[in-house]
Amino acid sequence: SVDAGAVLAGAAHHYPQRVAVRDGERTLTFAGLHDHALRFARGLREYGIGPGDTVLLLLPNTLWFPVAYWGTLYAGAVVSPANPAQPAAALATQIEDSGARAVIVPGPEATAPAPSGGTVVAAEALLGYGTAERVPRGPEDLAHLSYTGGTTGRSKAVRVLHRNLVANVTQVSWVRSASRTVLVDGVLGAEQDKERATSWHRPPGTGVTLAVAPLFHALGLASMVANTLVGTTTVLSSRFDPERFLADVDEHRVTLLNGSPTMYRALLASPAAAGRRMESVSVVNSGAAPIDPETWRRLAELFPHARITEGYGLTEATVALVLHPLDRDAGIPPGSVGLPLPDTELSIRDLTDLERELPAGETGEVWARGPQITDGYHGMADLTADQFRDGWLRTGDTGHLDDRGHLFLSGRAKDMLIYKGYNVYPVHLEDILAGHPAVATASVIGVPHQDAGEIPAAYVVLRNGAAATAEELMAYVAERVAPYQRVRELHFVPALPVSAAGKILKNELRARHAAVAG
Ligand code: ATP
Repeated sequence: SVDAGAVLAGAAHHYPQRVAVRDGERTLTFAGLHDHALRFARGLREYGIGPGDTVLLLLPNTLWFPVAYWGTLYAGAVVSPANPAQPAAALATQIEDSGARAVIVPGPEATAPAPSGGTVVAAEALLGYGTAERVPRGPEDLAHLSYTGGTTGRSKAVRVLHRNLVANVTQVSWVRSASRTVLVDGVLGAEQDKERATSWHRPPGTGVTLAVAPLFHALGLASMVANTLVGTTTVLSSRFDPERFLADVDEHRVTLLNGSPTMYRALLASPAAAGRRMESVSVVNSGAAPIDPETWRRLAELFPHARITEGYGLTEATVALVLHPLDRDAGIPPGSVGLPLPDTELSIRDLTDLERELPAGETGEVWARGPQITDGYHGMADLTADQFRDGWLRTGDTGHLDDRGHLFLSGRAKDMLIYKGYNVYPVHLEDILAGHPAVATASVIGVPHQDAGEIPAAYVVLRNGAAATAEELMAYVAERVAPYQRVRELHFVPALPVSAAGKILKNELRARHAAVAG
């Protein structure tokens, strides 16, 4: 069987005494986490929750998250993670839409709207009923109902099957660790390939990661599962604070970091990072949004022994489609998000004729096929039929492949703007602006224009204490691009609107622009 619950059960078997999760002074070993999950599953049964029922996790990054997550899977139920900080109305919608039978909150003091036909339960209240047997699930059973980040509009619930989750964490482990980890009949077997075991490749049962990215989002959640698969310790942190972050990295000898460019930019901008060299870290991975070359360069200074890598994916593909393989990282051309994961195919489609596959070097919509492509959207048959076609997922992102299969992203299809008939990709302009010494971060949107159709408008946050004029920055871009790509409008802002997953909310910028433009 292909059963995601077997990932923790396997880790508890292979690395029972290793610390699985740490939350401040509190720790659980893999065996301890397994035991807590069995008790949590028993508690759920007390509330009438069993195979196929949906459990909504309304939990920050504390020890309760992994306990409730694995406990829900062990009960045979479906995990639907939710952002605890979202507005009450959005949360109420998600609770109803997911059809959850229970909403799990951290303690009795936390509140949430009760789902119709369900109940709100404090995680700790579920641990008092003894232990249950793990309920095995099959490949086609639902594992997660994962809500997308809602960056481009309304958040959608994605149906992640057990086989999608197991496939994706295994694919990531193949390229990320020195082991060939194989799930056979729900039992994890790990075989170490010693020749490939460089300092970047972590053999199973080693390594420490710091989980700052929210576990309720696809990137944080799948990372937690992948780390469990290979027996890496997860140090939890519920709030990103640069000083705390660096102290945690040092104290726990963290080896692996995974986060969004927004988080890394905030880290690099902090005085706490100035002149520091974090020696323990061997891999720093960035995902969820485009990273600019300047941030990349500065990360390499802060983490001198680390490979700085990038990954690309989306909730509709469980999480990951493309990654920098560690052994070939040196060969990944600058600006590329990497190579497709094992068993993953990419196809670039003509934006005006989606049936037409484009050759290397030409930009179009990125389509992907592989075992991690999910079952579609919950309760949205039309949208599912439109986005998932014959095993292919339309990602909504634009990019091209080089002749060796490396993927270069140029943005979201929706973000592309057309200036006098020419395609302009905002990411290109954002990268250039981020390279200016006075700029902390920048976002470019297309805004309607009478003669040109659309023009690129930039929103810029300056570095602390730095000064620049709009004319100066627009000239800086103009020197580096073709005339049709020039930034035509530039606004300084104190901060950019970002989502919980660290993505810049361009919809909000567009709305702001429209409001000002009247
Ligand atoms: P919604 O689909 O509801 O608007 P969302 O886009 O935030 O929300 P996610 O699944 O969280 O949903 O994000 C996936 C998107 O993130 C991808 O389609 C892509 O646009 C972007 N992304 C992920 N990784 C990268 C990367 N390395 N570089 C650039 N963009 C990335």
